[in-house]
Amino acid sequence: MPTKALVRTARLLHLIRGAGRYGIKVGAPELEWHRAIGRAFQVRDHMLRFGANPFNKAGVEVRFPCQAMLIGERKLLIGGSEEVEATSVLIAAGMEPVVPPVPGLHEAGYLDNERILDLKELPHRIAVIGSGPIGCEFAQIFSRFGVQVTLVDLSARILPQEEPETSAAVRAAFEAEGIEIRTGIKMTSVEAANGMKRAFFESCASIEVDEILVAVGRSLDGEALGLHTAGIEWSNRGIKVNDQLRTSRPWAWAAGDVVGGPLFTHVATEMGHVAARNALRGTADRLDLRIVPRVTFTDPEVASVGVTEAAAKKSGRKVRIGFARVVDAEKAQIDSLEYGHVKVVADAKTGELLGCHIVSESAGDMIHEAVAMMAARTPVKVVAKAMHAYPTLSELMRSALNSASGA
Ligand SMILES: Cc1cc2nc3c(=O)[nH]c(=O)nc-3n(C[C@H](O)[C@H](O)[C@H](O)COP(=O)(O)OP(=O)(O)OC[C@H]3O[C@@H](n4cnc5c(N)ncnc54)[C@H](O)[C@@H]3O)c2cc1C
Repeated sequence: MPTKALVRTARLLHLIRGAGRYGIKVGAPELEWHRAIGRAFQVRDHMLRFGANPFNKAGVEVRFPCQAMLIGERKLLIGGSEEVEATSVLIAAGMEPVVPPVPGLHEAGYLDNERILDLKELPHRIAVIGSGPIGCEFAQIFSRFGVQVTLVDLSARILPQEEPETSAAVRAAFEAEGIEIRTGIKMTSVEAANGMKRAFFESCASIEVDEILVAVGRSLDGEALGLHTAGIEWSNRGIKVNDQLRTSRPWAWAAGDVVGGPLFTHVATEMGHVAARNALRGTADRLDLRIVPRVTFTDPEVASVGVTEAAAKKSGRKVRIGFARVVDAEKAQIDSLEYGHVKVVADAKTGELLGCHIVSESAGDMIHEAVAMMAARTPVKVVAKAMHAYPTLSELMRSALNSASGA
């Protein structure tokens, strides 16, 4: 969560710098890193303010901080010394950041999403390795904080899980802000000298930076949790579960990031409820992962739900695509917004919405109209006829639905 507080600070800085376009004359704003990071920690502390109290009130014994490890069927070692036997075990231990096996990286030192929050001062230059949601959010935060950022990815485009139009729109916005983007290249080694780090790549010139942030994904360390010992199947992508979140052992359930799949807090929360109910009450509730909203808090924001155009076509569906550009919304002219669009993917036969992909300010809020439509399996033509308030960015959703409805 501290990252989102930094996103806010970075956005304000950007708005103040661009205040001239709204007819406001201001001096150059100055970031005070220690205060910005202090506020981010306050936000986190507020979230954690209740501590163990709600759990204790519900009759749950909490040990914190304390490490647990499975040491056999239904058996746990807690705090390194206490052995406990349980009727059921729910594993919700999250994932760890992946560190790519690049020669010299360990020796030179690198940052990950946690270590970055411990920085006492900002570096002058940073290489962000990995252009998924976490890499992109940090790249823009640091760039707006005045750090010279190079964003590097092995994939041909940034945010490679998203639609190609999404990647292109965010890339254009990032480059306009001065972020250097190198895609389709592999980091081969790192050397450290005189407090600097030099990163070498397979097919382009090396770069010298002060820090390297690694954001290439997350993986499961099943050894640390003792999964083998307990006979629970896993890979570095997650614990293998069936759709009731039960593992290969009937007494064990898993929920959240440890299961792999969409790594989001809202998914982990839903999974936790279902898995806990099943484990404690013997129910066989299932989780509907058909509709998971995904948001990346860059500016413009990226939000999507359902399948991409390519995935829908690959599954053999005939699709209708609807598209609306942000610049065509009057609200975008009023607010001086330049980048983004709404793209919808609908089933050509039934008109059902299969996916929605938004790049826009407030995309993370706008996406829920598509979530509701998909949950109710509402045909796109129904909502395309519904009035949307003027002037709002949500009018773009109506335009995109309208063009996908074939009307
Ligand atoms: C930089 C960043 C930004 C993100 N932004 C968003 C966002 O904007 N929106 C969103 O929805 N998601 C976001 N996520 C993803 C989100 O944080 C995760 O999906 C979510 O936290 C998963 O919850 P979880 O409970 O499964 O795992 P975690 O939150 O990782 O919790 C697992 C807990 O288990 C503890 N643990 C691990 N091993 C043991 C052990 N052996 N014994 C005892 N305890 C153990 C860990 O210390 C940890 O406290 C972000 C992630 C990162 C890294």
